[in-house]
Amino acid sequence: MRWKTRVVKVGRVSIGGDNPVRIQSMTTSDTRNVKATVDQILKLQDVGCEIVRMTVQGKKEAEACGEIKNELIRLGCDMPLVADIHFYPPAAMVVADFVDKIRINPGNFVDTRAIFKKIIYTDEMYAKEVLKIEEEFAPLIEKCKKRGVAIRIGTNHGSLSDRIMNRYGDTPFGMVESAFEFARVCRKYDYHNFLFSMKASNPLVMIHAYRLLVAEMVNIGWNYPLHLGVTEAGNGEDGRIKSAVGIGSLLLDGLGDTIRVSLTEDPWAEIDPCKRIIKFAKERSKLRLPTVDTLVPKTLKEGSVILKAKYDVSAADLVILASMELGAKLIDGLGNGVSIDSHHKSEDFERNLLQACRIISFKTDFIACPGCGRTLFDLQSVTNRIKEKTGHLPNVKIAIMGCIVNGPGEMADADFGYVGSRPGKIDLYVGKTCVEKNIDFIDAETKLIDLIKSHGKWVEK
Ligand code: SF4
Repeated sequence: MRWKTRVVKVGRVSIGGDNPVRIQSMTTSDTRNVKATVDQILKLQDVGCEIVRMTVQGKKEAEACGEIKNELIRLGCDMPLVADIHFYPPAAMVVADFVDKIRINPGNFVDTRAIFKKIIYTDEMYAKEVLKIEEEFAPLIEKCKKRGVAIRIGTNHGSLSDRIMNRYGDTPFGMVESAFEFARVCRKYDYHNFLFSMKASNPLVMIHAYRLLVAEMVNIGWNYPLHLGVTEAGNGEDGRIKSAVGIGSLLLDGLGDTIRVSLTEDPWAEIDPCKRIIKFAKERSKLRLPTVDTLVPKTLKEGSVILKAKYDVSAADLVILASMELGAKLIDGLGNGVSIDSHHKSEDFERNLLQACRIISFKTDFIACPGCGRTLFDLQSVTNRIKEKTGHLPNVKIAIMGCIVNGPGEMADADFGYVGSRPGKIDLYVGKTCVEKNIDFIDAETKLIDLIKSHGKWVEK
């Protein structure tokens, strides 16, 4: 049974309540390039996407959204459009005239980029900063209310404010409180056309944050819809597994009203896994699927519990379904291993699933952003090259980020970061610290490998 939320209107599409779980994606073109962005939106519409987001860095991009909307209308496309805003509230005020929803990041809409320093916040300092949120956010709420524009309060694990991190930590609790600071302002202005997201690249953190969010909402009698997503999931089988574990587990819990599978691939490649996740969440009761009762726990010598399951489905379905079903249980600590009987599994499927659930680490974990209009290099080919060269390192996490907009916290979990700093230039990070700046793109992959070696994390293939 699905947790029933209130209905939020995003253009012609309603989210929440008894509406179907909606599918979303995001364009990767420069938003100022109206033709390229319109082409991507039309392509997304053709494959079944229901809501499309575009990045809006400044007023130029905001104004381009007006042209994009007009061109789509001229072509007979009424796709609901969402503007993605970071750091710059004035862009949100302009774009609210043209789009159906605005995504704000509560970690950086008003607050500056986190510096990850220990700061003692007195109650007075804290209250002053919260008041500033109302001053900056209220005009946008008033405008959205007047125009019927929705807002997503989109928390990201990697871009919490210093205020939140110092008081609540870099935790699911901090993620929820970060969103609630903005939600309370919405409610004060009697604006309710908003929803929440709690994204993280780690499915475990993401699942805990959404569950905590719902528990807190139930406690205080709120029922705003949820947009689900695992951010920076990467590409290929690993990206699909991480997304299916995170999004699928929550849908199986009965939580979630709209989803995005973020992949470092073309935006339209995200729609097929979304459809499969939604299909399995919906049909679960009709299919002969393993449940906690039918999974056979088998005790090994060392006391590990292995979850055994048989899947008679296609290869593409297996990746999604097994990740949803078994991932949900592994994340909840109901097993330490999996044994899958299927003709269609890849050689490493079981180990990939265990790695996505943070039970083992047998190869490099990649945290790769999906790309958007801010991306500063060819994300897909660079990601594939770096994976090819460095993909064999156990207990190493590498972040590959198209830009630094969300700050180094975006790579919260990574040991090493490869980040676009400006066109043709890359910054390299160790943890959250930038250790080499403005490296020529051509040299950056070699320098990344040197960096990994210099930290004693390299092993030969
Ligand atoms: S990190 Fe990637 S997806 Fe996020 S804003 Fe930068 S380029 Fe876009």
